[in-house]
Amino acid sequence: MENKSIRYLKGVGEARAELFAKKGIKTIEDMLYFFPRAHEDRSQTKKIADCEIGETVCVSATVFSPVRETRIRKNMTIYSMTVCDDTGALSVIWYNNRFVKGQFHTNDEYILFGKITKNRYGKTEMINPVYEKAGAERYTGKIVPIYPLTGGLTQKIVQRTMELALKEAGRLEEYIPDYIREKYKLAEINYAMRNIHFPDDFQSYNIARERFVFEELLILQLALLNRKGENTQAEGIVFEDTRCTDDFVKTLPFPLTNAQKRTLDEILKDMNSGKMMNRLVQGDVGSGKTAVAAAAIYAAVKNGTQAAMMAPTEILASQHLDTLTEFFKGMDINVVLLTGGMKAKDRRLAYDMISTGAADVVVGTHAIIQEQVEFYNLGLVVADEQHRFGVEQRAKLAAKGHNPHMLIMSATPIPRTLALILYGDLDISIIDELPPGRKTVKTYAVGEKMRKRVYAFLQKNIGAGMQAYVVCPLIEEAENTDLQNAAELAEKIQKVFPMFKVGLMHGKMRPKMKDEIMNGFVKGEIQILVSTTVIEVGVNVPNAGLMIIENAERFGLSQLHQLRGRVGRGTEQAYCILFAHGNNEITKKRMETMCMSNDGFYISEQDLELRGPGDFFGTRQHGLPEMKIANLFEDRDILKQSQEAAAMVLEHDPELEAPENRALKQRCDRLIADEIVMN
Ligand code: ADP
Ligand code: MG
Repeated sequence: MENKSIRYLKGVGEARAELFAKKGIKTIEDMLYFFPRAHEDRSQTKKIADCEIGETVCVSATVFSPVRETRIRKNMTIYSMTVCDDTGALSVIWYNNRFVKGQFHTNDEYILFGKITKNRYGKTEMINPVYEKAGAERYTGKIVPIYPLTGGLTQKIVQRTMELALKEAGRLEEYIPDYIREKYKLAEINYAMRNIHFPDDFQSYNIARERFVFEELLILQLALLNRKGENTQAEGIVFEDTRCTDDFVKTLPFPLTNAQKRTLDEILKDMNSGKMMNRLVQGDVGSGKTAVAAAAIYAAVKNGTQAAMMAPTEILASQHLDTLTEFFKGMDINVVLLTGGMKAKDRRLAYDMISTGAADVVVGTHAIIQEQVEFYNLGLVVADEQHRFGVEQRAKLAAKGHNPHMLIMSATPIPRTLALILYGDLDISIIDELPPGRKTVKTYAVGEKMRKRVYAFLQKNIGAGMQAYVVCPLIEEAENTDLQNAAELAEKIQKVFPMFKVGLMHGKMRPKMKDEIMNGFVKGEIQILVSTTVIEVGVNVPNAGLMIIENAERFGLSQLHQLRGRVGRGTEQAYCILFAHGNNEITKKRMETMCMSNDGFYISEQDLELRGPGDFFGTRQHGLPEMKIANLFEDRDILKQSQEAAAMVLEHDPELEAPENRALKQRCDRLIADEIVMN
């Protein structure tokens, strides 16, 4: 029934159907789930004498004069008329709305809904009102939905079509199970559907909204949990010997923190369980994820399989290569590198070693998941940095072995409540503890006035042997702003500090060039490295104790936090200076957050709160589906409930096979099919 095309509705012809299709609306059900973005209260009618400047009101009034057309300049024509009721007269104005001419009959009564303003002669006017004939109100006399529109569709058309769709759909079938609805006090679907569009009052609207928020999040949760179910059902290679990592841990120059131990235990348990591991390890920068990954890799190799470690950039890959080679020194574990930037000959050699099993561990970039790469027996894949490594890539890698275990590392701390839904298809370990003795990076947010002092500070410290990063935001070439551009900035800084060597690194450089510069910095030949965010993840230069970030207001807080994590890896006190511009209150608060906290989780919560989920997810591309009605931040309580509820539903009916769950299942499948959850 609800799958019927909207073409069945009166007034929806081919052209209009196409306009609706642009909004993703094809069926009547699509139409019903096209929710309003706001409502206007047109339920109360006021007397003209009672109207106040600035308010948006309904008046019921008689047309006193026909619409007059006054062209005041090119592209600006005013249409005006006077209406009156038994308390007074009101002029009504439309700008450039030719259509209103001929819509009104003198002496007839109309309902007009619009904003009351005062014109420059002190006269009270109503501007651009919505109107209709009194007596058969359709668009006034009630709370009216306002929809997000595209060109060609007007509010009136959508409102009218929505009414028809509701009528055509008739009685809707409830598909949230009764026990869930009762437990969470959710409105029944017919009530909710009517009131989300045409509420009797705002309380009814809120009740309706709550139900649909719940419904949307429930379906998302079910879809994610279902996928997790598939993953956890997948058979995995059993690593019999999990104690072997003790030998490895003993060789480390430091004891593991409790959080590292706990995480490693969780990993080892997974690898021993007979099921394929799908685990995300979340830990702040510097929390020691690499050591944990190395232990897991050690276990894989000692249990007779190969392991692969993927990094998002070539620099990181080669750093991981160095780190692992160092960790595994003298252990008879053969580590090879595989990146796109390697010479064809070297690459072929790597392929051979991988396919014959001569290589125990492969460290590399996305090159690892290319077709030509064949593993001898891949048992574990570690991916560094989840947000650059989507589900699709994971699937590709999984296909390269017999369900190799998957370990994903992320230094992007996201609020715990959200981690569960974003990574609902993964198990999560959190390393929420830094190794002892770490000094926090002292952070200051400053304005332009402070630049001289900051540079003096820089000179003093670099003179004493430290190295510094200067980071600026990535700038599109087309974007013509006064933001600091990396190349120009590097030149300027070189002029300010002729006694130091300044290096430049940005994303458009060839990988080889980047590596050269980075190596120069690692070796200490370059004292100041000016760069865009290409240094963001993972690179480790203990002697770099200073970081200056230009246009810090342009960055997400989590990103600033990650950048800042590049310094403070040595024994000296490290500093991070944020140059922030603008007097924006939110910017101020965000910078304050950076200065007062070193806790990535706290910072990410603040960022989410200050900027809202739109920005947070938009800029970070966390890969969450676009929510129709739920706001992941404001509705986080409902989010929690929907998680519980999803678990309950699956406990009753793991495959969603029961007839009463069929509609739920359909909607989950659709969400997955849309690949919304997949990316
Ligand atoms: P991240 O989690 O950012 O990847 P790394 O694994 O690069 O962190 O670790 C950062 C630094 O801390 C490395 O130099 C590493 O050797 C060191 N480290 C890791 N674990 C410990 C520990 N338990 N005690 C002391 N230092 C540690
Ligand atoms: Mg790391």
